[in-house]
Amino acid sequence: MLKKILKFGGTSVGTIERIQHVAKIIKKEYDFGNKVIAIVSAMSGKTNELIKMSKSIDEEFDKRELDVLLSSGEQVTAALLAGALKRLNVKAKSWLNWQVPILTEGKHFNSRIVNARTNEIDNFLNEGIAIIPGFQGISKNGDITTIGRGGSDATAVALAKIFKTDSCEIYTDVDGVYSSDPNKIPVAKKIEKISYDEMLELSSLGAKVMQPSAVQTSMIYKIPLEVRSTFTDRKGTRIFDHENLDYSKSVTGVAYSKDDAKLTIIGVEDKPGVAANLFEPLNDAQINVDMVIQNISSDEKTTDITFTIKRVDLLKTKKILEKNQNIKYKKITHNDKVSKVSIVGAGMVSTPGVTYKMFKGLAESKINILAISTSEIKLSVIINEENTLKAVKKLHTIFDLD
Ligand code: ASP
Ligand code: MG
Repeated sequence: MLKKILKFGGTSVGTIERIQHVAKIIKKEYDFGNKVIAIVSAMSGKTNELIKMSKSIDEEFDKRELDVLLSSGEQVTAALLAGALKRLNVKAKSWLNWQVPILTEGKHFNSRIVNARTNEIDNFLNEGIAIIPGFQGISKNGDITTIGRGGSDATAVALAKIFKTDSCEIYTDVDGVYSSDPNKIPVAKKIEKISYDEMLELSSLGAKVMQPSAVQTSMIYKIPLEVRSTFTDRKGTRIFDHENLDYSKSVTGVAYSKDDAKLTIIGVEDKPGVAANLFEPLNDAQINVDMVIQNISSDEKTTDITFTIKRVDLLKTKKILEKNQNIKYKKITHNDKVSKVSIVGAGMVSTPGVTYKMFKGLAESKINILAISTSEIKLSVIINEENTLKAVKKLHTIFDLD
């Protein structure tokens, strides 16, 4: 008998029929003799709809009230699922965030789970299924909080740790993690097993299967995960520690995202302190700078600095740069029609020549590289957005992933 967390994402519970289908999946686990805690997302589209409603009252809607509003989405699903299980003659009960309670720390809309009371639910698991809304908790003051978009994954992982469950299964609309986006790259293959670090890189770099911070938590606490489909019986992808994996390939997956923008400051003075002066106000404004390239200066007086940021931060960043009295430069250019294409693989560490192979592949496809960044297990390039799929396909092929 196992104690399990089963988490169901928004599309998995997107309609009444789907909620009834999810109830059957849970019942099956229960009939096997397993103890199940189900974590649910809001029905797909619900959270966006609620955000839109709040904005129609006030673009800067009060954050405390926003959390009260948004947490309702998951609560609806929890109650409907409990009802659907009862309809199947299975004992089930939903708990709201404050009834568990799930304690959080941090700001409204961006809190994180720090603890939860377990004894009452643990007792209940001897007789039935517990259902808990994802994405939320309560603060020390008793205010309702939410934990960031896509946060039901984080709830699942945090509660897997707090309730000491044997496993944490993420049920979603894809049947696992693929070597690239299966909707765009039909030759992409499902990955049977993947390490936490690779999964973390892939999800941070654009693969939308799981929320990156949830992957990170599971890595820290070594919580074994499985990503699988609500709509098929097929085996999913297992995510765990890399000691248990064998790397026959240098690259595990190719990810891409289209949410970056590139800025170049042309003709900045080339002397100590300039980069610090440049990035200090961006840091103060919590703008995350990703890649940075400084050119060699040709006249030893001025240079060009290129860096990338999230596309949503572009206007804000430009304003901050233009207001910055501490730097002198000729002009600022920007490009927001760029994408980031990345290869990820723990096997890269032990395989020489991966960098060269990537650059050569892109050259063969006549794709210009605008910026590069590397870590031990990933290599990312910024390219023109129109070349995204061409680049992903090429890399998928040359690294033997087709
Ligand atoms: N409903 C929340 C969102 O859409 C949380 C989640 O689905 O995981 O962001
Ligand atoms: Mg979701």
